Amino acid sequence: MSRRSIVICGNGASAALLLCALARRGEGSKFEVTVIGTGPRLGAGIAYATGNPNHLLNVPAGRMSADPLEPQDFEKFLAARGNKAGDFAQRFVARGFYSDYLDQTLKSLLPKDMQKHVRHVRAQVHGLIRVGLGWTVLHGEGSTNADLVVLATGLGGPAPIAGRYSADAARIIEIPWGEPQVDTKEDVLVLGTGLTAMDTVISLMDPGHTGQITLLSRHGMLPATHVPPAKREALAQPFPRGPGALLRAIKKEAGATPEEWQGFMDAMRPHWPEIWDGFDAREKSRALRHGLSHWNRHRHRVAPAGAARVQDAGVTIMAGRLTALTLKEQRLAATVTHKGKTQNLTVDRVINCTGPALNKGHDALMENLIASRQARIGPAGLGLDVDDRNRVTDSDGLAQPSLFALGAPTRGRWWEITAIPEISRQAMDIAGHIRAQFSLMDAATRLERKGAKA
Ligand SMILES: Cc1cc2nc3c(=O)[nH]c(=O)nc-3n(C[C@H](O)[C@H](O)[C@H](O)COP(=O)(O)OP(=O)(O)OC[C@H]3O[C@@H](n4cnc5c(N)ncnc54)[C@H](O)[C@@H]3O)c2cc1C
Repeated sequence: MSRRSIVICGNGASAALLLCALARRGEGSKFEVTVIGTGPRLGAGIAYATGNPNHLLNVPAGRMSADPLEPQDFEKFLAARGNKAGDFAQRFVARGFYSDYLDQTLKSLLPKDMQKHVRHVRAQVHGLIRVGLGWTVLHGEGSTNADLVVLATGLGGPAPIAGRYSADAARIIEIPWGEPQVDTKEDVLVLGTGLTAMDTVISLMDPGHTGQITLLSRHGMLPATHVPPAKREALAQPFPRGPGALLRAIKKEAGATPEEWQGFMDAMRPHWPEIWDGFDAREKSRALRHGLSHWNRHRHRVAPAGAARVQDAGVTIMAGRLTALTLKEQRLAATVTHKGKTQNLTVDRVINCTGPALNKGHDALMENLIASRQARIGPAGLGLDVDDRNRVTDSDGLAQPSLFALGAPTRGRWWEITAIPEISRQAMDIAGHIRAQFSLMDAATRLERKGAKA
């Protein structure tokens, strides 16, 4: 029987983790895998492409293993690279190390004879056409046929802001990843106060920025800083039903000190996919409406060294909404509204660090999949709808056996599924389902051939 083929759409860490999972199951040499993505390096994606050594992982190195069955794997890699052994549970290393780690892991898991069955195509995927049980994947100027497709396209970028205001788009930096091209004397307004905003401040400060940097978000709160967490237990099961009751129980149990509540958040982390999946659509929407900024602040914490850099930068932090942005004598006049009061400031640049757009409807591939009824938007408008095996459901809610989603596209169903600890486990599950799906396809082909001979 000829080799089965897989196309992975997206070439970030999720794609690399799935390749690792397939290789670890001994499937690496059995399939032809084509990874198609726009990122420059397989595995780097948005998070790990940064070459700035001051952009740190926001998860301690001890929890960043690409192999859920070998939790010390990343630590071993770091130690071999000369990083001092010691307490990796609280070590936050440069993110660039992580793409090197994935690269090396792939090379060691996919020896030469297997590597020839893995192809990396640098292109944008813009659509899928169903052909029998498989797919034709449309990308760049060409197409690739596959028995099975996995969508691993990540969180995507922030929703663009330029179109919303009459200001000069050239003074607005819409894509915040990478080093911003800003003169060190310029006054900068950073929209957002999350982890990407922190990275941006660090990038601005590295060459010695002297202009004023202002960070603006609805609540004006920076991410909490990681501290060594206390050993804590999760809430007793069964968990209270619904977001309101759950939040009350969490507030009661979390503890007062950062060590206590961070330990508690860590203990709750493995339970979030199940908790979120148990909310109905209205509860999910309510939780997002009322809890998202608090969730982001407490869950997406910054490494202590990153927090210290931002503290030393002397940035101004504002709470409010940007309600106007106009061009004024070659600069930008910004109006910020908060609790009915307005404040005006004049800046040279605006950097959009508002975080990934929650709804991926703006992504051309997702739009095409939805328009062609091959997929539907996920719960609470997040990502795509998937079943419990991460198979994408079509517009009628039927799971498609040969179309999977991995990582952020599944966050409507699982929510806590956008970072390495969860994605690596999900990749392992999907690798198992792929094997099972191909066994079924092979059995069907054998039956067909028998039927044809008879
Ligand atoms: C700045 C930042 C820092 C982070 N730090 C951490 C951390 O320290 N620890 C942690 O566990 N998690 C971290 N995360 C979470 C991070 O999202 C995951 O760890 C992981 O990198 C997700 O990888 P991915 O492949 O799913 O997505 P991405 O990194 O977004 O990669 C997807 C890739 O696919 C490409 N792509 C998307 N759509 C298409 C298409 N239609 N056609 C072709 N290519 C496409 C994109 O260009 C991109 O290169 C961080 C995230 C960000 C943004």
